[in-house]
Amino acid sequence: MHELSLCHAIAGVVRPHAADRHVDVVHLQIGALRQVVPESLLFCWTLVRDHESMSDAQLELDLVPAEVMCRSCGHQSEIASRWSVCCPECESGDVEVVRGNEFLVTSLDVS
Ligand SMILES: [Zn+2]
Repeated sequence: MHELSLCHAIAGVVRPHAADRHVDVVHLQIGALRQVVPESLLFCWTLVRDHESMSDAQLELDLVPAEVMCRSCGHQSEIASRWSVCCPECESGDVEVVRGNEFLVTSLDVS
């Protein structure tokens, strides 16, 4: 499962940063183009965190909308569909993705 491997990746980032401190919250930024299902990610996290000795660490998701810059008409727009990447103004597929590919741990709350 896609989300499960992502959770292992998250744990791999969190572990060295947390050192031996107790992790309360992991803040994660996810772009819309990552095609992550938030509910699945949160569920997989509950499986992974138990193995990582941070069984009460919460995952906080910050969902970033996808934005494209169109090379045809020059518009920068947010795109609603995460399945097709094209310009909502002129429907050109010649676009550059400006935002939406994020997948990063932005901060940790530790105690
Ligand atoms: Zn366009």
